[in-house]
Amino acid sequence: MASEQSPWDREDLTTATPLLGVTRAQVAVVGGGIAGLSVAYHLARAGVDVALVDAGRVGDGATGRSTGMLGPGVGDGVLALRRRFGDGVAREMLQATVEAVDLVRDLAQAEGIACDLVPGGQVHAALTPAHARRRWQEAQAWRALGVDAGWLDGPALRQATGSDAYVGGLRLEPAALVDPVRLCRGLRDAAVRRGARVHEATRVVRLEAGRVITAQGEVRARDVVVATNAFTPALGLLPGQVVLLHARALVSAPLPADALAALGGVGRDAVIDARSFFHYHRLTPDGRLLLGGATLRRRPRDAADDARAWARLTREAEALFPALAPLRVEGRWSGPLAFTWDRLPLVGQVAPGLHALVGWCGHGLALGAWSGARLASALGGHAPLPALPWIRGRAPAVPPAIGRAAVAAMSTALDVADRATCAWPRAVARSCAQEVAA
Ligand SMILES: Cc1cc2nc3c(=O)[nH]c(=O)nc-3n(C[C@H](O)[C@H](O)[C@H](O)COP(=O)(O)OP(=O)(O)OC[C@H]3O[C@@H](n4cnc5c(N)ncnc54)[C@H](O)[C@@H]3O)c2cc1C
Repeated sequence: MASEQSPWDREDLTTATPLLGVTRAQVAVVGGGIAGLSVAYHLARAGVDVALVDAGRVGDGATGRSTGMLGPGVGDGVLALRRRFGDGVAREMLQATVEAVDLVRDLAQAEGIACDLVPGGQVHAALTPAHARRRWQEAQAWRALGVDAGWLDGPALRQATGSDAYVGGLRLEPAALVDPVRLCRGLRDAAVRRGARVHEATRVVRLEAGRVITAQGEVRARDVVVATNAFTPALGLLPGQVVLLHARALVSAPLPADALAALGGVGRDAVIDARSFFHYHRLTPDGRLLLGGATLRRRPRDAADDARAWARLTREAEALFPALAPLRVEGRWSGPLAFTWDRLPLVGQVAPGLHALVGWCGHGLALGAWSGARLASALGGHAPLPALPWIRGRAPAVPPAIGRAAVAAMSTALDVADRATCAWPRAVARSCAQEVAA
């Protein structure tokens, strides 16, 4: 029976140091995922007195439940960014996301964080000729905007993805794989070494001007940064602007050496497919297959719904890697994602002295770290926040007319379309895709 656990080695609460009583700081940070930790670390490095609180251990939210794939990108993808913002702004946005990957890599190196960070590529793979056409256009758009994007097919595609299911793909570099829990822990420890105070097992119950009120104490601060991502509306902040959705993933038992080699070996690229409800996979340092994706849920429904979703993910893994069937699944879990209506994050001041960085729409691992560093720099008085579309104090409200039933109906329609378009015989799909790239 698979456990409801990710493969990352999480800490329990026994060694946490909760906040008891009232303390003061120049900046209080709520939330110890990658975004909040980056704010706290960069503030402490600049000599600012900062206190961070988290309801659990650092990394207990989406960060420590993620698949640990660092890659460039933001919003609905490169083609949509060009249409919406024009080439000048789209270029700046994407360059920031490339810098974000570099920032995490450099941080891990500079602070000696042992988080199994493996630099490599991220393959955006196509399962159908239509996907291949879109990926091909995306590769050209990335290049036009100054980011190196290669095109893969044939044996190179097989080597990079470990699967025969794909018919083409664009490969982005820089990208990297990481153990996100170790990254959080390392960043916490580095922040503490530089003078930050980190209180885990400390749930915030209320926010008031300059006050972070916790179950057993309070932080009083000039500035408060809320980095609680999907949990933000639960604190009464940004209701209707940030929507919580649950994503699921699974991890296999360690693969036999020959199977692992056939899948491209540890350290091979991360792969993301092009369906509306995309799937993504990578290999872990100890040789397991880790695969996430499929439909998102506003909240876990019931055990039967969970079981169906995980069974589907297992079938997906077996379809991509038939040699692994029947797949031995050792862990499966879900985690909270925060979405905005326009698919861009929100980083900025939401009220006097109150700042938020949330709503990554699945791109938060690198971008959360980068945005946290920029926000810290602004709060420390070193550089204003850059003028980018996600640097803002409000996100568009999710229209109230888009109720749960409408979201469910839309999800089902997209899902059916995904399944129908991916039912191509592989050989036919591949030959069509080769025409696209020719
Ligand atoms: C299954 C899955 C796979 C993913 N894979 C990837 C991937 O490969 N690459 C990628 O870029 N992104 C991925 N993501 C998304 C990514 O994990 C998030 O975008 C990112 O980690 C968000 O970071 P964060 O710091 O903003 O929020 P979180 O990591 O969610 O941190 C928020 C923190 O706030 C704390 N908190 C909440 N409420 C309170 C409170 N009241 N008081 C005190 N503390 C509180 C929580 O305990 C938590 O630690 C994935 C997400 C999931 C669920």
